[in-house]
Amino acid sequence: MSTKLKEQIAANIETIKDEVEAMCKHADMPNPNPRLIAVSKIQPQERIIAALEAGQRIFGENRVQEAEERWGELKPNYEGIELHLIGSLQTNKAANAVALFDEIQTVDRIKLARALASEMEKQNRQLPIYVQVNTGKEEQKGGCMVEDLEALLAECKTLGLEIRGLMCIPPVGDDPSLHFALLRKLGRQHGIAKLSMGMSKDYALAASMGATDIRVGTSIFGERDYSSRA
Ligand SMILES: *Cc1c(COP(=O)(O)O)cnc(C)c1O
Repeated sequence: MSTKLKEQIAANIETIKDEVEAMCKHADMPNPNPRLIAVSKIQPQERIIAALEAGQRIFGENRVQEAEERWGELKPNYEGIELHLIGSLQTNKAANAVALFDEIQTVDRIKLARALASEMEKQNRQLPIYVQVNTGKEEQKGGCMVEDLEALLAECKTLGLEIRGLMCIPPVGDDPSLHFALLRKLGRQHGIAKLSMGMSKDYALAASMGATDIRVGTSIFGERDYSSRA
C-alpha cells in the first residue's frame, strides 16, 4: 500500500471528524461525537488497509458474503475491528451474519428478528441490533414502516434482543432533514438512544440533528466501482 493512499484516507477521515465536530458545536448538540462507520463495501482492499493503518476500526458492509471474503482475511490481523451490517439481510444468511458482525443495523421485520434471536442463542453471541425504519415509505427499500415499528420493537424485546438504535436511509432526492427529524422523534418516543443516519452527502447535517452513528463510504475511500462486484 502506498504512503500516499494512507495519507489521503487519513486526511479524509480527519476532515470528516473536524466537520462533524464543528457542526455539532454550532448546533449545540449534547452528544458531539457520533461514531464514524467507514463503509467499506465494494472498495478495493488496499483502501481498507489504508484506513486500518490510519487507525479506523469501525466498518460497515452491506452484503454478508462480500464481508466474509474481505474481513475473514483482515480481522485476525488488526486489534479491535468492529463490523456493522448496514445492508438488508435474508433470514437464510442470519447464521453467517451473527458469526461475522458485531452489530446488525438492519432489523426490519419480525421474521428476521426471530431468525437472528435464534442464531444468537445457538452461537451464544448476543449482538446489539438497530431497527431500520423506512422513513420514506419506499416500496423497494428495506426498513419497517413507521406504523409497524411499535409491534416490531415489542417482538424484539420479547425475543430478548438488545435494541440499541434506529437506522434510516433517506430517499434519494428528498430533503434528508425531514427523515433525520422523524428518526430522532421515533427514538425519543421509544426511548432508543442511538440513531444511525447520515452518509457522505449529509453526515454533517445528520450530526447536527442528533446522529450517534454516521455511515460514510465515498467521502473516505472515493467512488465505488460497482462493476468490480462479483
Ligand atoms: C453505501 C452505504 C452508505 C455509504 O454511502 P456513501 O454515500 O458512499 O457515504 C451508507 N449507508 C448505507 C446503508 C449504505 O448502503
